[in-house]
Amino acid sequence: TNFNINCVSDHDFGTQRELLPPAKVAKEMIGAALQKHIGAVNPSECEPGDEDAFFVADIGEVYRQHMRWKNNLPRVTPHYAIKCNPDPVVLRLLATLGAGFDCASKAEIEQVLKIGVDPSRIIYAQPCKTKSYMRYTAKQNVKQMTFDNTDELYKVKELCPDAELYLRILTDDSASLCRLSQKFGASMETTQELLELAKELDLNIAGVAFHVGSGATDSSAFVQAVTDARDVFDRAIDLGFSPHTLDIGGGFVSETFEFTASVLNVALEQHIPSSIRIIAEPGRYYTSSAFTLACNVIARRTVEDKQTGEKSYMLYLNDGVYGNFSSIIFDHQHPVPQILSTRRKQNNYNYALADLSRSTDSLLDSGYTSATEDQHELASGGGKEIEYSIWGPTCDGIDCISESWKSGQTVDVGDWLYFEEMGAYTKCSATRFNGFTDKHETVYVSSEVGASAVLGF
Ligand code: PLP
Repeated sequence: TNFNINCVSDHDFGTQRELLPPAKVAKEMIGAALQKHIGAVNPSECEPGDEDAFFVADIGEVYRQHMRWKNNLPRVTPHYAIKCNPDPVVLRLLATLGAGFDCASKAEIEQVLKIGVDPSRIIYAQPCKTKSYMRYTAKQNVKQMTFDNTDELYKVKELCPDAELYLRILTDDSASLCRLSQKFGASMETTQELLELAKELDLNIAGVAFHVGSGATDSSAFVQAVTDARDVFDRAIDLGFSPHTLDIGGGFVSETFEFTASVLNVALEQHIPSSIRIIAEPGRYYTSSAFTLACNVIARRTVEDKQTGEKSYMLYLNDGVYGNFSSIIFDHQHPVPQILSTRRKQNNYNYALADLSRSTDSLLDSGYTSATEDQHELASGGGKEIEYSIWGPTCDGIDCISESWKSGQTVDVGDWLYFEEMGAYTKCSATRFNGFTDKHETVYVSSEVGASAVLGF
C-alpha cells in the first residue's frame, strides 16, 4: 500500500453538487498518478508482478461524498458499510469525519476497532450471525445489532443479552441492482410476534432497520419502508419498549442521491419524531467513484472474419472477474475500458499516453505520442473503429470483462487500459484463482485539502 497523498484544491461546500470542485481537477490528479505508476514499469524487463493491475484512489472524492451526505441528509448519521470496500485509508478518513460503521463479520468489526473507533459507533448489521462472532462482539462491547427471526432472538438471549436490537423489516427491493429481501427482513405480519418474543426474553428493542436493496433506483421504496418502520416503532412502544433509533440501511447511489434524499427527508419528517436518532448504512455511495483501476494488456488474439477479411481482437488483461472485476458477477456492473497508454512499436517501449494529465505535454515534447492524437488521426482519415472483446487472465471462459468494446486505436500487448468507478464491491470480493494476486496496490491521491488534512498527510 502506497501512501502517496497529493492535494490540489479546497473549496467551499455549498448545498449543490455543482459547487463542488470541477471533476477535471480530480481527473487530472488521477491521470498523473496513473501515468507515474505505469511510467515506472518496463514490461520487457520488469519483475513478475511489477506490471500488475493497480488502483488509484482519490480520497478527496470520499470526503466530498461525506460532505454531500451531510448537506442533503443532515438528520442521518452514515455508518459506512465496510463490506463494500474495506480500504484502510477510506476507513481512517470516515472514522475521523465522525461516521459510524456497519460491519457484517468478526473481521470487519476487528478492523474498525483497531483504528480506534468506539464500539458504540459500530452496528453489527447481519440478521443471521455466527455464534462465535456474537461471543466476540459481546466481549468487545459492540451492542448494536440487527435481527429478523425468532431463532436469532434465542441466540441473542444466550450470547449477547445486553444487545441493542434493531428489528430489520422486509422492503420492496424490486427496483434495486442487488436484491436482498429474498434473504433478509421480517415481513410486517411477523413483526408483532418477534416483538412479543423479545419482550418475553427480556431483550432490548432499540430500533427498527431496513435495507431497500443495494443500488436502489426507486425512492418510493424508502418511503414505504419508513412508513412500515413507524408502524413497528408504535407496536414496540405499545409493548413497553423504548426504541430510539431508525436505521435506513444502504442502497444510495450517487446519480440519484439528491432526489432520494429529498424524498426521504419528507418521509422522515412526516413519520419519525425528531427525538428518534436516524442512522444509515451507505456503502457504494461513498467509494464507487473514488477508485480507478489500471490493467495491463498481457496478450492479444487476432480474429479474422473469413468472409469480409475484417479483423477484430481479443484482449487479455491481468485482472478479471475472479479479481477486481468480481463486480461484474456479484454486482451486475459493466465496467467501461478507456485507453491509458498505447505502445509505439517503432520506439523502444515509448508510451502514447492518453490525454489525462497536464504532465502529458512535457512527455509529448520528449517524443511520446498522445493516444487521443492517434485517435483523431484515425477519425479524420476516415479510419474505422476496431472491435475488441476484453478478457481476464484466468483459464475460465466466464472470465470476460467486455464482449464488445470499440476504439479508434490499436491496442496491443503491453498497453494499459483503465476503468473508472471501480471502488465498490470490487477488490473486496477478488480471489486468487489460477494463482493471480488478490492484493493490488493502491496509489492514493487527494483532490481535497480537507481530506489530506484530516488524515494528517
Ligand atoms: N447494509 C447491509 C446490511 C447490506 O447488506 C449492504 C449491502 O449489501 C449495505 C448496507 C450496503 O449497501 P450499498 O452499498 O448499496 O449502500
